[in-house]
Amino acid sequence: MSQQFGPEYVRAIAPYQAGKPIAEVAREFGLDEANIVKLASNENPFGVPASSQQAMAAAVADLGRYPDANGFDLKAALAKRYEVPADWITLGNGSNDILEIAAHAFVQKGQAVVYSQYSFAVYALATQGVGARAIVVPAREYGHDLDAMAAAIDADTRLVFIANPNNPTGTFIPAAQIEAFLNKVPANVVVVLDEAYNEFLAPEHQFESAQWARKYPNLLVSRTFSKAYGLAGLRVGFAVAQPALTDLMNRIRQPFNVNSLAQAAAIAALNDKPFLEQGAKNNAAGYAQFVEAFDELGLQYVPSFGNFVLVKVGDDDGAGARINLALLKQGVIVRPVGNYGLPQWLRISIGLPAENAIFIAALKKALA
Ligand SMILES: *Cc1c(COP(=O)(O)O)cnc(C)c1O
Repeated sequence: MSQQFGPEYVRAIAPYQAGKPIAEVAREFGLDEANIVKLASNENPFGVPASSQQAMAAAVADLGRYPDANGFDLKAALAKRYEVPADWITLGNGSNDILEIAAHAFVQKGQAVVYSQYSFAVYALATQGVGARAIVVPAREYGHDLDAMAAAIDADTRLVFIANPNNPTGTFIPAAQIEAFLNKVPANVVVVLDEAYNEFLAPEHQFESAQWARKYPNLLVSRTFSKAYGLAGLRVGFAVAQPALTDLMNRIRQPFNVNSLAQAAAIAALNDKPFLEQGAKNNAAGYAQFVEAFDELGLQYVPSFGNFVLVKVGDDDGAGARINLALLKQGVIVRPVGNYGLPQWLRISIGLPAENAIFIAALKKALA
């Protein structure tokens, strides 16, 4: 047997499967990049806000210097927006970084992390990366079963991941249920509330989770600039929590984990209300467009609160892969979710109306 490197728990990690890049699909299927529609990674179909582009152009001159390791201006803008002190904020290289930092800061090898079946793939990666034991709680109607999750917390548990809305299923947990859960969780267990899709929620579903950090010393709220703010390629996310948690997060994170362009762009995007409103409006319209098509085709889908929809494209376990391939051949990239244990389903990001229409037409052909 050849030499094996690294700990067994690292070798056991299944690598994250990202959405296929447009260039790769063009190469593989002999297609023109310009005709490819990518609805695979829950990116913002409007791209980078113009305000962020301008802010980055101005920041280019200073790229010879290291970024501000403390992200002073971005934290100040976030502190103002979320009405928390700046030293309650941790910046991340995307919120994936926040999730990883949390696992490293709060969990050691042999301890346990609780998360839901069908929840974000990075929770498993972050857990495995520190050699912790995953307690995966069966989902209820494709969403988190918070009662079962509370019951699953054992003496070794130090961290719970909750995605709200959840990816890849799009399910949403109302504020009252999350608060009831937080009131049950032992004080030594950190709860990461991952709200990557928060900005897509209708006003009646919004709640001030960042303010809950005042009441719950073990709560860490995570947000990202990758989805609603259109900055996925720059990698910026952040967390809000009391200083006892934030201080540990800051010891673990790399000092320069958020680069200068990203900091500048995020500040501009945070204050770009019209961009967010445009995105929310497009998302609601696109969701209606998808739902109408799925109803017409008689396809089951999970009602979604994010910028994507999980749809069941067949009854056999080959269905997701088969329809995915048929879509790729037509230049439409979506996300198969077999790696989530959902081999009969596909996750489709909501795009511009024309992109959605191309996907729907391609889906009809693929199913025929
Ligand atoms: C997309 C996503 C994230 C974060 O992505 P980043 O680009 O790393 O900020 C985090 N959580 C969930 C549930 C997501 O879907």
